[in-house]
Amino acid sequence: MSTSSSAKPASSAPTTAKPQGVPLLDLKRQYVTLKDEMDKAVLNVLDHGKFILGPEVKELETKVAKYSGVEYGIGVNSGTDALLLALRAVGVGVGDEVITTDFSFFATAGVIARLGAKPVFVDIEADSYNIDPKLIEAAITDKTKAIVPVHLFGQMADMDPIMEIARKHKLSVIEDGAQSIGSSYKDKLCGSMGTIGCFSFFPSKNLGALGDGGMIVINDEETGDLCRILRLHGSKPKYYHKIVGYNSRLATIQAAALLVKLPYLRGWTEARQANAAYYDKRFAGSKIVTPTVKDYTTFHIYNQYTVAVENRDEVLKTLRERGIGCEVYYPVTFHAQECFADLGYGKDDFPVSSKAASSVLSIPIFPELTEPERELVADTLLELAG
Ligand SMILES: *Cc1c(COP(=O)(O)O)cnc(C)c1O
Repeated sequence: MSTSSSAKPASSAPTTAKPQGVPLLDLKRQYVTLKDEMDKAVLNVLDHGKFILGPEVKELETKVAKYSGVEYGIGVNSGTDALLLALRAVGVGVGDEVITTDFSFFATAGVIARLGAKPVFVDIEADSYNIDPKLIEAAITDKTKAIVPVHLFGQMADMDPIMEIARKHKLSVIEDGAQSIGSSYKDKLCGSMGTIGCFSFFPSKNLGALGDGGMIVINDEETGDLCRILRLHGSKPKYYHKIVGYNSRLATIQAAALLVKLPYLRGWTEARQANAAYYDKRFAGSKIVTPTVKDYTTFHIYNQYTVAVENRDEVLKTLRERGIGCEVYYPVTFHAQECFADLGYGKDDFPVSSKAASSVLSIPIFPELTEPERELVADTLLELAG
Protein backbone atom coordinates (compact mmCIF):
# COMPACT_ATOMS: atom_id res chain seq x y z
CA MET A 1 0.00 0.00 0.00
CA SER A 2 1.20 3.47 -0.83
CA THR A 3 2.02 5.64 2.14
CA SER A 4 2.01 8.92 0.28
CA SER A 5 -1.22 10.85 0.42
CA SER A 6 -2.56 11.63 -3.04
CA ALA A 7 -4.09 14.94 -4.02
CA LYS A 8 -7.66 13.88 -3.52
CA PRO A 9 -10.69 15.63 -2.16
CA ALA A 10 -11.48 14.85 1.46
CA SER A 11 -13.52 11.69 1.69
CA SER A 12 -15.98 10.31 4.18
CA ALA A 13 -15.04 6.74 3.33
CA PRO A 14 -12.87 4.73 5.69
CA THR A 15 -9.26 4.82 4.50
CA THR A 16 -7.52 2.28 6.71
CA ALA A 17 -9.62 -0.87 7.13
CA LYS A 18 -9.60 -3.39 4.29
CA PRO A 19 -12.79 -2.67 2.33
CA GLN A 20 -15.48 -5.33 2.04
CA GLY A 21 -16.52 -4.19 -1.39
CA VAL A 22 -16.10 -1.24 -3.72
CA PRO A 23 -18.89 0.72 -5.38
CA LEU A 24 -18.58 1.57 -9.08
CA LEU A 25 -19.57 5.11 -8.16
CA ASP A 26 -20.54 6.70 -4.84
CA LEU A 27 -22.05 10.14 -5.29
CA LYS A 28 -22.67 10.55 -1.59
CA ARG A 29 -18.95 10.88 -0.91
CA GLN A 30 -18.82 13.89 -3.20
CA TYR A 31 -21.90 15.45 -1.64
CA VAL A 32 -20.53 15.34 1.92
CA THR A 33 -17.51 17.35 0.81
CA LEU A 34 -19.79 20.05 -0.64
CA LYS A 35 -22.80 19.81 1.63
CA ASP A 36 -22.74 23.35 3.04
CA GLU A 37 -22.18 25.05 -0.31
CA MET A 38 -24.60 22.78 -2.12
CA ASP A 39 -27.42 23.12 0.39
CA LYS A 40 -27.02 26.87 0.39
CA ALA A 41 -27.12 27.12 -3.41
CA VAL A 42 -30.19 24.90 -3.70
CA LEU A 43 -32.04 26.64 -0.87
CA ASN A 44 -31.24 29.97 -2.48
CA VAL A 45 -33.15 28.87 -5.58
CA LEU A 46 -36.12 27.84 -3.43
CA ASP A 47 -35.90 31.28 -1.92
CA HIS A 48 -35.72 33.38 -5.10
CA GLY A 49 -38.22 31.14 -6.90
CA LYS A 50 -36.98 31.69 -10.46
CA PHE A 51 -37.19 27.99 -11.24
CA ILE A 52 -37.31 28.30 -15.03
CA LEU A 53 -34.32 29.95 -16.75
CA GLY A 54 -33.28 31.73 -13.58
CA PRO A 55 -30.01 33.68 -13.24
CA GLU A 56 -27.99 30.54 -12.37
CA VAL A 57 -28.72 29.08 -15.81
CA LYS A 58 -27.23 32.09 -17.60
CA GLU A 59 -24.20 32.09 -15.28
CA LEU A 60 -23.57 28.39 -15.84
CA GLU A 61 -23.96 28.80 -19.61
CA THR A 62 -21.29 31.50 -19.60
CA LYS A 63 -18.96 29.47 -17.39
CA VAL A 64 -19.30 26.14 -19.22
CA ALA A 65 -18.82 27.91 -22.58
CA LYS A 66 -15.62 29.48 -21.23
CA TYR A 67 -14.49 26.16 -19.70
CA SER A 68 -14.88 24.61 -23.16
CA GLY A 69 -13.27 27.40 -25.15
CA VAL A 70 -16.54 28.18 -26.94
CA GLU A 71 -18.52 31.40 -27.34
CA TYR A 72 -22.04 30.42 -26.20
CA GLY A 73 -23.65 27.86 -23.90
CA ILE A 74 -27.32 26.86 -23.98
CA GLY A 75 -28.57 24.87 -20.99
CA VAL A 76 -31.00 22.08 -21.85
CA ASN A 77 -32.89 19.26 -20.17
CA SER A 78 -30.37 16.48 -20.79
CA GLY A 79 -27.42 15.42 -22.89
CA THR A 80 -29.86 13.58 -25.10
CA ASP A 81 -31.79 16.78 -25.77
CA ALA A 82 -28.55 18.67 -26.40
CA LEU A 83 -27.87 16.21 -29.24
CA LEU A 84 -31.46 16.31 -30.48
CA LEU A 85 -31.63 20.11 -30.59
CA ALA A 86 -28.15 20.35 -32.11
CA LEU A 87 -29.08 18.01 -34.95
CA ARG A 88 -32.34 19.92 -35.53
CA ALA A 89 -30.45 23.20 -35.51
CA VAL A 90 -28.15 22.09 -38.34
CA GLY A 91 -31.18 21.02 -40.33
CA VAL A 92 -31.25 17.26 -39.87
CA GLY A 93 -34.71 15.89 -40.63
CA VAL A 94 -36.72 13.20 -42.39
CA GLY A 95 -34.80 11.38 -45.09
CA ASP A 96 -31.35 12.65 -44.10
CA GLU A 97 -28.49 10.39 -43.08
CA VAL A 98 -26.26 11.01 -40.07
CA ILE A 99 -23.00 9.14 -39.58
CA THR A 100 -21.98 8.05 -36.10
CA THR A 101 -20.10 5.37 -34.22
CA ASP A 102 -21.48 1.86 -33.74
CA PHE A 103 -20.35 1.88 -30.10
CA SER A 104 -21.82 4.39 -27.67
CA PHE A 105 -24.66 5.03 -25.26
CA PHE A 106 -28.03 4.62 -26.97
CA ALA A 107 -28.90 8.34 -26.98
CA THR A 108 -26.31 9.09 -29.67
CA ALA A 109 -28.17 6.99 -32.24
CA GLY A 110 -31.64 7.38 -30.75
CA VAL A 111 -31.80 11.13 -31.41
CA ILE A 112 -30.97 10.64 -35.09
CA ALA A 113 -33.82 8.16 -35.50
CA ARG A 114 -36.23 10.36 -33.52
CA LEU A 115 -35.74 13.14 -36.09
CA GLY A 116 -36.79 10.78 -38.87
CA ALA A 117 -33.23 10.61 -40.16
CA LYS A 118 -31.27 7.42 -40.76
CA PRO A 119 -28.37 6.61 -38.46
CA VAL A 120 -25.42 5.28 -40.45
CA PHE A 121 -22.95 3.42 -38.27
CA VAL A 122 -19.18 3.27 -38.61
CA ASP A 123 -16.86 0.85 -36.84
CA ILE A 124 -14.44 1.96 -34.13
CA GLU A 125 -10.70 1.92 -33.50
CA ALA A 126 -9.68 -1.13 -31.49
CA ASP A 127 -7.58 0.88 -29.04
CA SER A 128 -9.62 4.05 -28.34
CA TYR A 129 -13.13 2.60 -28.87
CA ASN A 130 -13.90 5.83 -30.77
CA ILE A 131 -15.15 6.10 -34.36
CA ASP A 132 -12.49 5.14 -36.92
CA PRO A 133 -12.04 8.18 -39.17
CA LYS A 134 -10.60 6.01 -41.96
CA LEU A 135 -14.00 4.35 -42.41
CA ILE A 136 -16.14 7.49 -42.51
CA GLU A 137 -15.84 8.52 -46.16
CA ALA A 138 -17.10 5.16 -47.40
CA ALA A 139 -20.31 5.76 -45.42
CA ILE A 140 -21.06 9.16 -47.00
CA THR A 141 -23.88 9.40 -49.56
CA ASP A 142 -25.66 12.37 -51.13
CA LYS A 143 -28.13 12.20 -48.24
CA THR A 144 -25.51 12.59 -45.51
CA LYS A 145 -26.05 15.76 -43.48
CA ALA A 146 -23.86 15.40 -40.40
CA ILE A 147 -21.30 13.37 -38.49
CA VAL A 148 -21.68 12.73 -34.75
CA PRO A 149 -18.34 11.68 -33.28
CA VAL A 150 -18.61 10.49 -29.67
CA HIS A 151 -15.77 11.18 -27.27
CA LEU A 152 -16.13 7.93 -25.35
CA PHE A 153 -15.00 7.23 -21.78
CA GLY A 154 -13.30 10.64 -21.43
CA GLN A 155 -11.07 10.75 -24.51
CA MET A 156 -11.80 12.69 -27.68
CA ALA A 157 -12.21 11.01 -31.04
CA ASP A 158 -9.58 11.70 -33.73
CA MET A 159 -11.08 15.06 -34.69
CA ASP A 160 -8.62 16.45 -37.28
CA PRO A 161 -9.40 13.88 -39.99
CA ILE A 162 -13.11 14.01 -39.06
CA MET A 163 -13.20 17.80 -39.51
CA GLU A 164 -11.26 17.48 -42.77
CA ILE A 165 -13.82 15.02 -44.17
CA ALA A 166 -16.68 17.23 -42.95
CA ARG A 167 -15.20 20.28 -44.69
CA LYS A 168 -14.64 18.38 -47.91
CA HIS A 169 -18.22 17.07 -48.01
CA LYS A 170 -19.85 20.15 -46.41
CA LEU A 171 -21.23 18.23 -43.43
CA SER A 172 -22.01 19.50 -39.93
CA VAL A 173 -20.19 17.93 -37.01
CA ILE A 174 -22.03 17.48 -33.71
CA GLU A 175 -19.63 16.44 -30.95
CA ASP A 176 -21.14 14.07 -28.40
CA GLY A 177 -19.05 15.19 -25.43
CA ALA A 178 -21.40 13.71 -22.81
CA GLN A 179 -18.54 11.72 -21.26
CA SER A 180 -15.73 14.15 -22.00
CA ILE A 181 -16.30 17.69 -20.71
CA GLY A 182 -12.92 19.38 -20.24
CA SER A 183 -10.95 16.80 -22.23
CA SER A 184 -8.67 17.99 -25.00
CA TYR A 185 -7.35 17.00 -28.40
CA LYS A 186 -3.99 18.60 -29.21
CA ASP A 187 -4.60 22.24 -28.21
CA LYS A 188 -8.39 22.11 -28.57
CA LEU A 189 -11.07 21.51 -25.96
CA CYS A 190 -13.94 19.06 -26.18
CA GLY A 191 -16.96 20.74 -27.76
CA SER A 192 -14.95 23.48 -29.45
CA MET A 193 -14.01 21.71 -32.67
CA GLY A 194 -17.29 20.71 -34.28
CA THR A 195 -20.22 22.83 -35.47
CA ILE A 196 -21.86 22.22 -32.07
CA GLY A 197 -20.72 20.51 -28.87
CA CYS A 198 -23.05 18.61 -26.53
CA PHE A 199 -22.61 17.84 -22.84
CA SER A 200 -24.59 15.81 -20.32
CA PHE A 201 -24.92 16.52 -16.61
CA PHE A 202 -26.38 13.09 -15.83
CA PRO A 203 -25.25 12.33 -12.26
CA SER A 204 -22.66 9.74 -13.33
CA LYS A 205 -20.80 12.11 -15.66
CA ASN A 206 -17.73 13.97 -14.39
CA LEU A 207 -19.85 17.10 -13.88
CA GLY A 208 -23.11 15.64 -12.63
CA ALA A 209 -26.32 17.42 -11.65
CA LEU A 210 -28.96 16.39 -9.09
CA GLY A 211 -30.94 14.80 -11.88
CA ASP A 212 -31.01 15.32 -15.63
CA GLY A 213 -29.32 18.22 -17.37
CA GLY A 214 -27.28 19.05 -20.42
CA MET A 215 -25.70 21.84 -22.44
CA ILE A 216 -25.08 22.84 -26.01
CA VAL A 217 -21.90 24.82 -26.70
CA ILE A 218 -21.50 26.71 -29.95
CA ASN A 219 -19.53 29.52 -31.61
CA ASP A 220 -22.06 30.51 -34.28
CA GLU A 221 -24.45 33.11 -32.86
CA GLU A 222 -27.30 32.50 -35.29
CA THR A 223 -27.40 28.72 -34.84
CA GLY A 224 -27.06 29.26 -31.08
CA ASP A 225 -30.16 31.50 -31.16
CA LEU A 226 -31.99 28.76 -33.04
CA CYS A 227 -31.05 26.26 -30.29
CA ARG A 228 -32.40 28.70 -27.69
CA ILE A 229 -35.68 28.97 -29.61
CA LEU A 230 -35.89 25.19 -30.02
CA ARG A 231 -35.61 24.63 -26.25
CA LEU A 232 -38.62 26.96 -25.72
CA HIS A 233 -41.17 25.21 -27.95
CA GLY A 234 -39.80 27.03 -30.98
CA SER A 235 -41.26 30.34 -29.83
CA LYS A 236 -39.88 33.79 -30.56
CA PRO A 237 -41.29 36.05 -29.34
CA LYS A 238 -43.23 34.17 -26.68
CA TYR A 239 -46.40 32.54 -28.04
CA TYR A 240 -45.36 33.05 -31.69
CA HIS A 241 -44.08 29.87 -33.34
CA LYS A 242 -42.32 29.87 -36.69
CA ILE A 243 -41.14 26.34 -35.93
CA VAL A 244 -42.22 23.49 -33.64
CA GLY A 245 -39.69 23.06 -30.86
CA TYR A 246 -39.34 21.25 -27.56
CA ASN A 247 -39.71 21.87 -23.85
CA SER A 248 -36.08 21.42 -22.97
CA ARG A 249 -34.71 23.91 -20.47
CA LEU A 250 -32.05 23.26 -17.88
CA ALA A 251 -33.75 23.66 -14.48
CA THR A 252 -32.43 26.58 -12.41
CA ILE A 253 -31.92 24.30 -9.42
CA GLN A 254 -29.65 22.06 -11.52
CA ALA A 255 -27.65 25.03 -12.75
CA ALA A 256 -27.22 26.22 -9.15
CA ALA A 257 -25.87 22.81 -8.11
CA LEU A 258 -23.57 22.65 -11.13
CA LEU A 259 -22.18 26.11 -10.38
CA VAL A 260 -21.11 24.81 -6.97
CA LYS A 261 -19.40 21.81 -8.56
CA LEU A 262 -17.71 23.41 -11.57
CA PRO A 263 -14.71 24.87 -9.67
CA TYR A 264 -13.91 21.36 -8.36
CA LEU A 265 -14.14 19.60 -11.70
CA ARG A 266 -10.47 19.94 -12.59
CA GLY A 267 -9.36 18.52 -9.23
CA TRP A 268 -11.81 15.64 -9.45
CA THR A 269 -10.54 14.83 -12.92
CA GLU A 270 -6.96 14.83 -11.62
CA ALA A 271 -8.00 12.35 -8.92
CA ARG A 272 -9.52 10.15 -11.65
CA GLN A 273 -6.26 10.43 -13.62
CA ALA A 274 -4.29 9.38 -10.53
CA ASN A 275 -6.54 6.33 -10.13
CA ALA A 276 -6.06 5.51 -13.81
CA ALA A 277 -2.27 5.80 -13.48
CA TYR A 278 -2.40 3.42 -10.51
CA TYR A 279 -4.40 0.82 -12.45
CA ASP A 280 -2.19 1.23 -15.54
CA LYS A 281 0.84 0.42 -13.42
CA ARG A 282 -0.81 -2.52 -11.66
CA PHE A 283 -2.08 -4.09 -14.90
CA ALA A 284 1.13 -3.52 -16.91
CA GLY A 285 2.49 -6.81 -18.23
CA SER A 286 -0.74 -8.70 -17.49
CA LYS A 287 -3.37 -9.94 -19.94
CA ILE A 288 -5.66 -7.08 -18.96
CA VAL A 289 -5.82 -4.54 -21.80
CA THR A 290 -5.69 -1.07 -20.25
CA PRO A 291 -7.11 2.10 -21.89
CA THR A 292 -4.96 3.55 -24.66
CA VAL A 293 -4.23 7.25 -24.42
CA LYS A 294 -3.78 8.38 -28.00
CA ASP A 295 -0.86 10.65 -29.02
CA TYR A 296 -3.24 13.50 -29.78
CA THR A 297 -4.96 13.28 -26.39
CA THR A 298 -3.70 16.09 -24.19
CA PHE A 299 -6.27 15.64 -21.40
CA HIS A 300 -8.17 12.39 -20.74
CA ILE A 301 -10.92 12.87 -18.16
CA TYR A 302 -11.54 9.17 -17.45
CA ASN A 303 -15.30 9.22 -17.11
CA GLN A 304 -14.74 5.48 -17.24
CA TYR A 305 -11.70 3.25 -16.85
CA THR A 306 -12.47 0.53 -19.34
CA VAL A 307 -10.35 -2.57 -19.72
CA ALA A 308 -10.66 -5.51 -22.10
CA VAL A 309 -10.34 -9.06 -20.77
CA GLU A 310 -10.58 -12.48 -22.41
CA ASN A 311 -13.13 -14.15 -20.14
CA ARG A 312 -15.25 -11.04 -19.65
CA ASP A 313 -18.60 -12.53 -18.63
CA GLU A 314 -17.01 -14.81 -16.02
CA VAL A 315 -14.91 -11.97 -14.65
CA LEU A 316 -17.97 -9.74 -14.46
CA LYS A 317 -19.92 -12.36 -12.56
CA THR A 318 -17.17 -13.00 -10.03
CA LEU A 319 -16.45 -9.30 -9.48
CA ARG A 320 -20.13 -8.81 -8.70
CA GLU A 321 -20.17 -11.75 -6.32
CA ARG A 322 -17.28 -10.19 -4.47
CA GLY A 323 -18.93 -6.79 -4.26
CA ILE A 324 -16.61 -5.03 -6.70
CA GLY A 325 -18.54 -2.48 -8.73
CA CYS A 326 -18.27 -3.01 -12.47
CA GLU A 327 -20.36 -2.50 -15.56
CA VAL A 328 -20.24 -3.20 -19.27
CA TYR A 329 -20.36 -0.06 -21.40
CA TYR A 330 -21.80 -1.27 -23.80
CA PRO A 331 -22.96 -4.87 -24.10
CA VAL A 332 -24.96 -4.35 -27.32
CA THR A 333 -23.67 -2.25 -30.21
CA PHE A 334 -26.01 -0.03 -32.21
CA HIS A 335 -26.19 -2.20 -35.32
CA ALA A 336 -27.23 -5.17 -33.14
CA GLN A 337 -30.09 -3.33 -31.39
CA GLU A 338 -33.52 -4.71 -32.15
CA CYS A 339 -34.92 -1.23 -32.85
CA PHE A 340 -32.37 -0.77 -35.64
CA ALA A 341 -32.97 -4.15 -37.29
CA ASP A 342 -34.66 -2.48 -40.25
CA LEU A 343 -31.44 -0.64 -41.09
CA GLY A 344 -30.34 -3.95 -42.55
CA TYR A 345 -26.90 -4.38 -41.01
CA GLY A 346 -25.41 -7.85 -40.75
CA LYS A 347 -23.99 -9.20 -37.52
CA ASP A 348 -20.45 -9.23 -38.90
CA ASP A 349 -20.49 -5.72 -40.35
CA PHE A 350 -18.71 -4.12 -37.38
CA PRO A 351 -16.09 -6.58 -36.16
CA VAL A 352 -14.21 -4.15 -33.92
CA SER A 353 -17.20 -2.79 -32.03
CA SER A 354 -18.68 -6.29 -31.74
CA LYS A 355 -15.45 -7.51 -30.19
CA ALA A 356 -15.43 -4.55 -27.78
CA ALA A 357 -18.99 -5.29 -26.71
CA SER A 358 -17.98 -8.81 -25.68
CA SER A 359 -14.66 -7.98 -24.01
CA VAL A 360 -14.87 -4.61 -22.21
CA LEU A 361 -15.47 -3.95 -18.56
CA SER A 362 -15.43 -0.68 -16.60
CA ILE A 363 -14.13 -0.57 -13.04
CA PRO A 364 -14.36 2.04 -10.24
CA ILE A 365 -12.45 5.23 -11.10
CA PHE A 366 -14.42 7.95 -9.26
CA PRO A 367 -12.36 10.69 -7.56
CA GLU A 368 -13.18 9.72 -3.97
CA LEU A 369 -12.08 6.10 -4.39
CA THR A 370 -9.69 5.28 -1.54
CA GLU A 371 -6.28 3.68 -1.91
CA PRO A 372 -7.31 0.40 -0.18
CA GLU A 373 -10.36 0.26 -2.44
CA ARG A 374 -8.47 0.65 -5.70
CA GLU A 375 -5.91 -1.84 -4.42
CA LEU A 376 -8.68 -4.37 -3.81
CA VAL A 377 -10.11 -3.74 -7.28
CA ALA A 378 -6.69 -4.22 -8.91
CA ASP A 379 -5.83 -7.32 -6.83
CA THR A 380 -9.15 -8.95 -7.65
CA LEU A 381 -9.07 -8.17 -11.36
CA LEU A 382 -5.49 -9.42 -11.62
CA GLU A 383 -6.49 -12.63 -9.88
CA LEU A 384 -9.42 -13.18 -12.27
CA ALA A 385 -8.11 -11.90 -15.58
CA GLY A 386 -4.38 -11.17 -15.31
C1 LIG B 1 -24.84 10.09 -21.02
C2 LIG B 1 -24.70 10.11 -22.49
C3 LIG B 1 -25.64 10.72 -23.34
C4 LIG B 1 -26.97 11.20 -22.88
O1 LIG B 1 -26.95 12.12 -21.85
P1 LIG B 1 -28.23 12.24 -20.86
O2 LIG B 1 -27.92 13.48 -20.11
O3 LIG B 1 -28.27 11.02 -20.03
O4 LIG B 1 -29.42 12.40 -21.72
C5 LIG B 1 -25.35 10.79 -24.69
N1 LIG B 1 -24.23 10.27 -25.19
C6 LIG B 1 -23.32 9.67 -24.43
C7 LIG B 1 -22.08 9.14 -25.05
C8 LIG B 1 -23.53 9.55 -23.05
O5 LIG B 1 -22.62 8.92 -22.30
